[in-house]
Parts: sequence; structure tokens; C-alpha cells
Amino acid sequence: MRISYACPACHATTSIDGIETRESLDCAACGAVLPIPADAIAGRGTTQPPRLQRCMVCPSLELFVRKDFPQRLGLAIVVAGLAASCVAWANRELVATFGILFGTALLDVTLFFLMPDCLSCYRCGARYSGPGVTTPGGSPAAGGREFGGFDLETHEKHRQLVARTKRLASDPTHP
Ligand SMILES: [Zn+2]
Ligand SMILES: [Zn+2]
Repeated sequence: MRISYACPACHATTSIDGIETRESLDCAACGAVLPIPADAIAGRGTTQPPRLQRCMVCPSLELFVRKDFPQRLGLAIVVAGLAASCVAWANRELVATFGILFGTALLDVTLFFLMPDCLSCYRCGARYSGPGVTTPGGSPAAGGREFGGFDLETHEKHRQLVARTKRLASDPTHP
């Protein structure tokens, strides 16, 4: 299992592999150590495959399933497709222009479906990928916590929670 998170101390993005066997997360940029909560991964030290139960970076128990699709790659394909179609359009190649546009859209959609699922934290945006993050075939694992897709209501709840925490931190006279 792999985590990608923004360090709470220095805000640098850190990626760490093999988190199911680690005791803590160490920031590569500032060296801050985040102890991994004991209940974060189910099936530790047993024959069961490890399964993520909650966020390791913040106290949030709520994560959502999303595609592990690098947005930059998706954008690069679209931009390359648009540029190529413009060249074809300039050369009055009508069929090629629309062929390229259709092809890039199809490539984007195909890649999206081929990409594995990953889990993302509503509150801090930490991203978890690799085995143990989602159940293969979508069948609920015995006793494990199941995470669903993105839910706007949950997202809004966490956004307000973060905003309130920030307000309290900046104004300690009004708890
Ligand atoms: Zn750091
Ligand atoms: Zn989190």
C-alpha cells in the first residue's frame, strides 16, 4: 500500500510505499514523524490481507474511492490531441481533425477505466493506492470498512470542519 500526503508540518508532498508494515510516516522534506494509528489497517499481523480503515494523517475516518489517474497525464493527452487536430484543421484535413479529436477522447476514457482505484481522504487529501485499498471486484470484505465514491455532503462537512478549526486557531479568545 502506498500513501501520498501533504506533510502537516511543512506541507511538502511525500509518497511512502509499504505503509502496511510501517509504524510511522516520515516526511522526506522536514523529517516530521507521524505515528500510524493502530486501528488504521485491519488484518495487521494476521493471515488476512491488510485493509485500510481510516486516514493515517488526520483524525478522519471518512475516505472516498476515486481513480488513481494522474490529472497531468489526462490533460497532456487532451492538449496534444487539440494541437494535432489544429494542425490537421490548418491543412484542411477535415476527417483527420475529427478523427484525432475523437481518438484522444476515446484514449482518455479508456485510460480512465484501466486505471486502478485509490482512496482519498475528505479532510486532508491524503491518497492511498495499491493492494488492500479497495476490494477486488467490489465485493465487501468480511468485517472491513467499506468506502464509497465521492459524496458532496461529506466533503462539505469536512470543508466546514477545517474552516472552523482554522478560525479557532487564529482567534483563541473566542473558543
Ligand atoms: Zn514535512
Ligand atoms: Zn486525512
